[in-house]
Amino acid sequence: MNIKAKKSLGQNFLQDENILKKIANSIDVNQDDLIIEIGPGTGALTKYLKEKNSYLVCYEIDTRLKNILSIYEDNKTKIIFNDFLKANINEDIKDINYNNIYIIANIPYYITTPIIKHIINIPKLKSMTLLVQKEVGKRFTAKPNTKAYNSLTVYLNYYFDINYLFDVSKYCFKPIPKVESAVINFKRKISNYNLKNEEVFFKLVNDAFKMKRKTLKNNLNSYNWAIIKDYLIQNNFSESIRAEQLNLENFIDIANLL
Ligand code: SAH
Repeated sequence: MNIKAKKSLGQNFLQDENILKKIANSIDVNQDDLIIEIGPGTGALTKYLKEKNSYLVCYEIDTRLKNILSIYEDNKTKIIFNDFLKANINEDIKDINYNNIYIIANIPYYITTPIIKHIINIPKLKSMTLLVQKEVGKRFTAKPNTKAYNSLTVYLNYYFDINYLFDVSKYCFKPIPKVESAVINFKRKISNYNLKNEEVFFKLVNDAFKMKRKTLKNNLNSYNWAIIKDYLIQNNFSESIRAEQLNLENFIDIANLL
């Protein structure tokens, strides 16, 4: 393998076979499911995913990897050389007769959030396992009233049950990155929240956390504060709280009142 890692593409290749196996085994797939791998690189993880005998679609942006990755192609495995963020996933998989979708990715950390936003509404997405920067992993699983807790935490916990699986030392990669990593699993929630309007909820969550230092009231100055104030008082919150003190259910309740 004589590929010179490109920093601009976030190429840090995972070397530890044990960790690769653990990542591949974090999803519970069947032969009639579809795995989407983002950023297969030289196929370190792909080879373990192949063992599942599911449908497999891999998105890789770096065409230098064509020869190396072509050995994985067969009637159930497709390698697509494209920027995953620009890919039309529904179109790419429309001819596959799959049951559920699982996503696995060791991707550049600067596109973690765009990637999540790109896949969040894929129909039949059952679970995904992402290798992320450790701090980001902590954010995904943060509890209210902690520094790491923010709008992304609330937003993602609405969609997924999120599990922090394990840490990965930077020395498991080549070249060695600057930051430490963690493997996080997201399981699609069967939503039993009685949310009336998702758009209202997402806007509320975004606005509530807009300025970290500001109170909820200040961040929501364009909202009908009387309604929110009543809710806060009824639920034993002070009127001058910050957004980070509210949990997912509180945001859903408030969104439903607006
Ligand atoms: N999964 C491999 C490679 C990790 S490096 C391993 O664990 O060893 C990250 C990979 O993501 C690289 O191969 C890089 O070329 C690819 N990549 C970066 N940006 C991408 C994008 N926007 N779409 C698809 N692949 C991308």
